[in-house]
Amino acid sequence: MIGLSILGSTGSIGMSTLDVVSRHPDRFRVVALTANRDTAGMLQQCRMYAPDYAVMANPRCALELEQQVAAAGLPVKVLAGGEGLEEVVSLPEVEQVMAAIVGAAGLIPTLAAVRAGKRILLANKEALVVAGRLFMEEAERHGALVLPIDSEHNAIFQCMPAGFQQGLDRVGVRKILLTASGGPFRKTPVEDLSAMTPAQACSHPNWEMGRKISVDSATMMNKGLEVIEACRLFHTEPEKIEVVVHPQSVIHSLVEYVDGSVLAQLGNPDMRTPIAHALAWPERMESGVSGLDLFDVAQLEFEPPDLQRFPCLALAYQAIESGGSAPAILNAANEVAVEYFLSGRLGFTAIAEVIRETLESLAPQYDLSLDALLAVDREARKVAEQIAGRRV
Ligand code: NAD
Ligand code: MG
Repeated sequence: MIGLSILGSTGSIGMSTLDVVSRHPDRFRVVALTANRDTAGMLQQCRMYAPDYAVMANPRCALELEQQVAAAGLPVKVLAGGEGLEEVVSLPEVEQVMAAIVGAAGLIPTLAAVRAGKRILLANKEALVVAGRLFMEEAERHGALVLPIDSEHNAIFQCMPAGFQQGLDRVGVRKILLTASGGPFRKTPVEDLSAMTPAQACSHPNWEMGRKISVDSATMMNKGLEVIEACRLFHTEPEKIEVVVHPQSVIHSLVEYVDGSVLAQLGNPDMRTPIAHALAWPERMESGVSGLDLFDVAQLEFEPPDLQRFPCLALAYQAIESGGSAPAILNAANEVAVEYFLSGRLGFTAIAEVIRETLESLAPQYDLSLDALLAVDREARKVAEQIAGRRV
């Protein structure tokens, strides 16, 4: 039996993971589930999946859960806060950790899992954007296998040859083609974008996801974060990654070789496929996702990204080019701006403006230690909040 801890089990990826795992009760055992504040969701998961541990990052919610678990007579140990998260990813009976917390908040607990040498199923792309080099170095040092869950990166991983960690040139890979759906506003008249509401931004044409990543998809910041994620996971540079808008979301990404071969991974847009792939790797197992009906898909379209319409993607490229801590600044400003947008305090097009101004206010620095990056993250949030606050 493979012991599994899920960071962010009440979220979209967390729930899809539990769906896949519950199809294989002979193979996986849920050791720990974790969430931030969704006590009701966690109580229900404790009933259904009987984990040994449940962690609420929010201490007040942990107290609530503890009382409810006791009242329900469930044999679940409730832990609280960041310490609780770090504890349950490091337990000896845990072999795999699903990292599915949203945002930079996932960095420290995921790093704890890396340092404990676990197999990391990495959905939390922000961790790699903030501290990707450190993260990958620590993974190597501690023998932690990092398998991507993000559908594009999982597709790229499936199309990569053995030994890609030694450098893409050495294994005959010319470039990576990173596909993007273009989100809900691909065809919205540009002059209407400023009036788009959180509900409109969160109604993605192909995927059902958490609210933060849904807004990121609408601004295409998601693709910017993914370019950075791909650079770190596949040890390459942004010049070798081409973003291709592919509205059907059937091809999840492609790898081009020097002989002209292009390998792609296709499937229905359902995160249970990459989740099952990473859980079972190097084997394959049932995920609950049906096969692709090509006759139903009928047509696949491709277009270049429109950087005028999607300034966030251009800002992400700028941050990668600046290097150092610039991606961490970009990420922090984006998290703040998206939160302001989702709570109705900022217009849709102002998201990019807050990020741009934050990047302009803070010079990137080149100490990439964890403490330095966490300090950058804190400072960038403060600056972004001031900038966003002036617009309220
Ligand atoms: P979500 O908002 O649905 O879920 C987030 C989870 O993290 C919840 O369980 C929540 O309780 C927990 N959480 C939030 N803040 C926390 C904190 N401060 N401390 C501890 N736990 C906290 O998000 P999601 O859509 O499942 O996305 C999770 C991650 O996976 C993100 O990084 C996202 O970019 C990535 N991802 C998601 C999808 C998708 O289809 N949803 C696809 C690719 C990548
Ligand atoms: Mg993705």
